Amino acid sequence: MLVVGAGPAGLATAAALGRAGIRALVLDRGARVGDSWRRHYDRLRLHTPRGRSELPGMPIPRRYGRWVPRDRMAHYLEEYAERHELEIVHNVEVARIDRAADAGPGPGSGVGSGSGSGGNGGGNGGPGWKVAATGGRVLDAHRVVVAAGSCHTPYVPDWPGRDVYRGELLHAAHYRNPAPYEGKDVLVVGAGNTGAEIAVDLADGGAKRVRLAVRTLPHIVRRPMAGWGAAAGRLLGGALPARTVDRLAARVSRLAVPDLGAYGLPRPASGLYTRAREGAVPIVDDGGLVAAVRERRVIPVPAVAALDAGGVTLADGERVEPDAVIAATGWRRGLEDVVGHLDVLDDLGRPRTRGWRSPEGAAGLHFVGYAAAVGGSLREIGAEAGMVAREAARSGG
Ligand SMILES: Cc1cc2nc3c(=O)[nH]c(=O)nc-3n(C[C@H](O)[C@H](O)[C@H](O)COP(=O)(O)OP(=O)(O)OC[C@H]3O[C@@H](n4cnc5c(N)ncnc54)[C@H](O)[C@@H]3O)c2cc1C
Repeated sequence: MLVVGAGPAGLATAAALGRAGIRALVLDRGARVGDSWRRHYDRLRLHTPRGRSELPGMPIPRRYGRWVPRDRMAHYLEEYAERHELEIVHNVEVARIDRAADAGPGPGSGVGSGSGSGGNGGGNGGPGWKVAATGGRVLDAHRVVVAAGSCHTPYVPDWPGRDVYRGELLHAAHYRNPAPYEGKDVLVVGAGNTGAEIAVDLADGGAKRVRLAVRTLPHIVRRPMAGWGAAAGRLLGGALPARTVDRLAARVSRLAVPDLGAYGLPRPASGLYTRAREGAVPIVDDGGLVAAVRERRVIPVPAVAALDAGGVTLADGERVEPDAVIAATGWRRGLEDVVGHLDVLDDLGRPRTRGWRSPEGAAGLHFVGYAAAVGGSLREIGAEAGMVAREAARSGG
């Protein structure tokens, strides 16, 4: 069985398969387990509590703290791979997956082919899949799990004038720390967890002015409440109508987070639980954002409408001239080149089905790590990995 990606989803899947007695070979384009985390900005901590972020089969050590910092998460993933003796091949990028039947005759399940090759260790003899990877390798596999990450490709909107803008414009994926922005005027675009945290990081780190461009008003949850809030949301969501859970969440939120309407960040009209079910993660704030907004060290402004050579026009028509624009505007899954031709993605590039279910007409192809999860992606990844392993064991590998 082949697993594409050695991030949390690929590791959890390979470990679950191992526990079920199924050998899995994991391919990763990176040089080292944990790199998908090491690449994030320095200040990053998990916004889900430690106990809700660990992968099945190994707890995150208590000494890593309740809100695990970036490097410790990367280290945990390395230890996880070692503990489960996972078989990982690094610096191999999967370019395309084809049905073995479509790709013509090959050497048969379980054996590698092409100019470079390797066995896959899976399969019960069906036609399966051909996986084309770096260096002309083509690997055969009866079953393939795609776990290449839903935060795969940094996405910057195609704002009018983006091509003529001469100022510094970077995606949050390339932001590390506030040092280069000391004394500068910075516009952070996007009020998700990443945008909010980078804005506070810049304000704390000596930026002259920090604006935060907000397109969709975010829900803000205080960090100490985030863990049980998510758990309560999941529990209540199973028993009560979404509207009722939204109302309860709004009451709790009013107690925990002051009204920031006077500072340009009013509470959203739509419910927290409803939004979370649609995949919109609330901002989990350790107090830094609320304080910075109230002290006007982070200034919420309307969304970006357009760029020109020297500035940015906001949705209310105001034009600003920041020294740098940091786009915390999300990610794309980047699955089109790899599996787009298999008719397994929807119009937004999301896998049509995820977890143990394979998309129609693509038996043995699975996607792990692509679900919108109220309780956090890492927790969902653990659950999906277990289900894939059980399905593989049930149907013979
Ligand atoms: C800044 C940030 C903070 C987050 N914080 C939290 C949090 O606190 N709690 C939470 O639950 N979730 C969080 N998430 C969401 C999610 O849990 C993480 O993104 C998590 O790392 C997802 O794991 P993954 O294995 O699906 O993807 P990744 O961690 O992205 O791993 C994918 C792996 O696949 C490899 N790969 C990609 N394409 C290919 C290819 N074609 N061939 C071979 N290898 C490939 C990559 O090298 C990478 O190692 C956060 C996400 C981001 C971006």
